[in-house]
Order: sequence, then structure tokens, then C-alpha cells
Amino acid sequence: AKRRPLRCFTTPNALTNKRVFPPPTRFLSSSQSHAPDHHKSAHKRPHPPGTAVVTDDEIAKLASKPQHSLSLADLVKHGRPPLSTEALYSSANFTLSLLPIRLAKRIQALRNLPFIVVSNPNINKIYNNYLHSLSTLLPWQHRTISNLDAEIRFTSVLAELVATHDQTIPILAKGFLECRRYISPPEVTKFLDTHLRTRIGTRLIAEQHIALHYSSAPHFDPSASPTPCPEHPTYIGVIDTALSPAAIVDSCAGFVADICELKYGVRPHWTIDGEPETTFAFVPMHLEYIATELLKNAFRATIENRQTREPIVITIAPEPPDAGPPRVTLDPPAEDKGAFKSDAIKPLDDNAPGVTIRIRDRGGGIAPEVLPNIWSYSFTTFNEEDDFPSDGSSQDALGIISSASGGGSSIAGLGYGLPLSRAYAEYFGGGIALQSLYGWGTDVYLRLKGVGKIQ
Ligand code: ADP
Ligand code: MG
Repeated sequence: AKRRPLRCFTTPNALTNKRVFPPPTRFLSSSQSHAPDHHKSAHKRPHPPGTAVVTDDEIAKLASKPQHSLSLADLVKHGRPPLSTEALYSSANFTLSLLPIRLAKRIQALRNLPFIVVSNPNINKIYNNYLHSLSTLLPWQHRTISNLDAEIRFTSVLAELVATHDQTIPILAKGFLECRRYISPPEVTKFLDTHLRTRIGTRLIAEQHIALHYSSAPHFDPSASPTPCPEHPTYIGVIDTALSPAAIVDSCAGFVADICELKYGVRPHWTIDGEPETTFAFVPMHLEYIATELLKNAFRATIENRQTREPIVITIAPEPPDAGPPRVTLDPPAEDKGAFKSDAIKPLDDNAPGVTIRIRDRGGGIAPEVLPNIWSYSFTTFNEEDDFPSDGSSQDALGIISSASGGGSSIAGLGYGLPLSRAYAEYFGGGIALQSLYGWGTDVYLRLKGVGKIQ
């Protein structure tokens, strides 16, 4: 069986999309708390433990501020070598200046959903997660992080924030499924599209600082050894300036094949052709998310169409820098033309080299009546009780319910794979297009623009 290589500590586990950060408390002595020093006196009234301490006023004030539109220059400017504690502090302060506004805006958007929807236990859990995360950041506002001790504690807060929101997608999916009588699919898609795109940016901001913390900590904190992972010279925070799409896609395919073997007892084959030696600057965890979702779809279709002798063909085509038009143009679907792409990021360089990845399967394509729905959140043709019954024991381990409760990974079923992959691709100016030859198979084109030259 192929194994996913253990690369950097910022690599998500594609199975759960959980980031595997080591606990930041390893840099802390046990007596230190995560809150800044003035935290204890900041609250006038005692609150029961676990209760988020954020007033409506604070939320309204923060939510009314403009959301800083993120640029890659912002993300990389603190991480260029040589790493210094000053750069780390300014990264922390920059992170602190962005996150509370973003969280407050999401809290308001959740509040604006119909009351019966926000009252759903799953949606309410997400709402409370946001309140909780905002409450952990508020005590840090109006102060400047200017020493290592504060930076370490702040990084712990960020790591907790990232972990708190790990399971947002399956939980929201379950919540909206339970509320489908009270809110229309276009309303859900409108909410989710903004919500999940903003979430990509919010996590990126937090993860970038956490990654910078870990890559610089060993330089000035000798007690931090052994380092969580051998230093990766091509990384700036979560960005790999020499990312190999072939290596990532290959490891994701291995992972998806493992799921297929578990669920169906079949392990489809894949080949990688084109120019697999291509590298470009991109965020590995974003490509891992997208590749895993697209490959799940291709593998599932291949198995259901009983074509497992035919390999899935993955073609890597580099997009040269500033050399005319891209090799593949991705037309956004008709209903999307002119749509506002919230929170997309400004590139460092419009002419950065990128890559197009085509995934070609012999999975029978997509029926014409199904095709218009595939980009909607929660549309799926997957059904656990379909003609590929899993044995009773694995049903729960692989099903939607257990993934919503934080359990295993499933081959399909949420109906979020395509729309969310497209949101990730578009975040840095790329896109996804799908061509179906019904009765034969599907080609998916994933175009990613590199994040640009980072010096
Ligand atoms: P899910 O996989 O959970 O159903 P997705 O958003 O990933 O959700 O896909 C939505 C639907 O699009 C799938 O249920 C399937 O019907 C169709 N689809 C996507 N990719 C393919 C493919 N490569 N071959 C056939 N059908 C596909
Ligand atoms: Mg899918």
C-alpha cells in the first residue's frame, strides 16, 4: 500500500483535513495560561466556565469594520529569511488585527440566518464555536505583542482556534440537511459560499502565523528541540515555494485508494503523466484538499461504473510564466458569471507560473439531468444503501453521520466536494472545470495559479 509521506507539520491529514500541529504548549511552562496578563481584570462580571464572553456591542462594532482584503504579500512578508523575533511579533500583531473582525462578521452572518436554522443544534454549535473563538481573541486586542512569552501564548490561542473549527464542514452540512424544510437550497448555497470562502482565508491567516512560529522558534528557543519537523527550506509558513503537484496528487491518490479498498474492496489504479517534475509556489494543504475531493469522485465513479481495470489518468501541465494565454480556459458555469468571489486573495504577481492538472476517469460521466446540480452545496448522487453495500460494520465508520461527529472519512456523501474545491482553487485565482462524456467518463481540469515569486 502506498503511504502518505510525512512531510511538514503543517500538512493536513487529508483523511479528516485536520492539521497536525504539535501542541504549542510544548513551549510553555505549565503555570502559564493562554490569556494575556491583563485578562483576569478585563471582565467585570464572572461568567460560568465555558461561556463565551462577548457582548453584542463588541460584535457589532467589530463587524462594522471593513474586512482587510488579504494579499499574498501580507502573508509572506513576515516569513522571509532571516527569521527574527521582530518579524514574528509583527506577524502576530498583523494576525491579531485581522481575525476578530473576520470572526465577528461570520457571527453576524450566522445570526442573520432564520432563527429556526440557528437554533438547530449543529448550526448552533458552529455559532458557539465562533463566539468562543472571538472571546479568546478579545482580551488580546488593544495591545501589542512584543515579547516571546506573549507570542507563545498568542500562538496557543491561534492553534486552539484552528482546532475548534476543524469539523465545521461536516457539522454545517448535517445542520443544513436537518433544516432543509426551513431554508431554500439557493439561500444555503449563498450563505455557505461566503462562509466557507471566508473560512479559507481566516484559517490561512492563523495557520500562517502558527507555521512561522514553529519554523522560527528553534532559532531562538533552544528548549524547542527536537524540532517538530526537519526544517523545510522551500517553505514560507504554509506556502511551499517549490511544491510538486505530482507528489501531492500521488499521495492523495494513495490515500483515496485506501478508502476504496476499505469500502469497496477494490483499489483503482492511477497514472501520472504530462510533466510531473513541475514545481510551483502554492499552499500544499489547499492542493491536498482539492486533489483528495476530485480523486474521490473519479475513483468512486470508476468503481461504480465497473471500470477499475482502466487507470485514472492525471496529467500535470505547467503554465509557464507570462507566456500568452493559459493552456486551458475555465469558463465559470452560467449561473456563476459575474458572481462576487468573496475573500479571494491578491496575488504577488499576476504572471506567476502555475499548473493545470487534468484528472481523467472512465467512470461513465455525469447524466445530463444531474450536471446542472453538481456545483451546489449538498447535492450528491451518493447513497449509502446503493448497489455497493458495505458490510454493516463499515457503514457507520464511513458514513456521513460518523464524519459529522469527527469519525472516519467517506468517499462521498456531503455533496461539498466540488463546490468547496472550486472555492479553494479560486482563492488564489485558479478554477475548476468539468467535462462529462456521458456513458464514458469525466475530465476535470484544475487550474492553479502559483502564488508568485517569493524572495
Ligand atoms: P459528493 O461526492 O459528496 O457526492 P461532490 O460535490 O464531490 O459531492 O460531487 C457531486 C456529484 O457530482 C456526485 O455525487 C456525482 O454525482 C457527480 N460527480 C462528480 N465528479 C464525478 C465524476 N468524476 N464522475 C461521475 N460523477 C461525478
Ligand atoms: Mg465528492
